[in-house]
Amino acid sequence: MSPNAGLLNAGNQGCGETISKRDRTHHESELCQFIKLKRVTTACGEISTMMADMETEIANPNTKMANINTNQTDVRTKMANSNTNQLHMGMKLANINTKMAHTETKLENMEAKMVNTETKLENMNTKMASFI
Ligand SMILES: [Zn+2]
Repeated sequence: MSPNAGLLNAGNQGCGETISKRDRTHHESELCQFIKLKRVTTACGEISTMMADMETEIANPNTKMANINTNQTDVRTKMANSNTNQLHMGMKLANINTKMAHTETKLENMEAKMVNTETKLENMNTKMASFI
C-alpha cells in the first residue's frame, strides 16, 4: 500500500489540500477555506447589490422631489409672467378707455359746433327771407 493510498487533492478551486477520500465531501462542502471565501464573496456581492438597490430607491424619491420643485418653480415663473401680462393688458385697456373718453369729448364738441352752425344757418335763412 502506497503512503498516499486513500488520499487525494481537494477539488475546490484554489485549494490544493491533500485530504482523505472519506473526508472529501465534508472538506469541500464545509471545512475548505476556499468554499468559505466563495460564500463570503457571494454574500458580499448580495449585500452590495441590496445596498445599490436601496441607494437607487432613496435616490428616486429625491429625484422626483427635485423634479417637483423644478415644476413648481416653472409654474411660479409662468404665473409671475401671466401676472405681468395681465398688468400690461390692464394698462393697455386703461389707455384705450382714456382714448375713447377723449374721442367721446371730441365728438360732443363737434356735435355742439354742428348745432351752432345749424342755428347760424337758420338765422341766415330767416334774415334772407326778410329781404325777399
Ligand atoms: Zn480545501
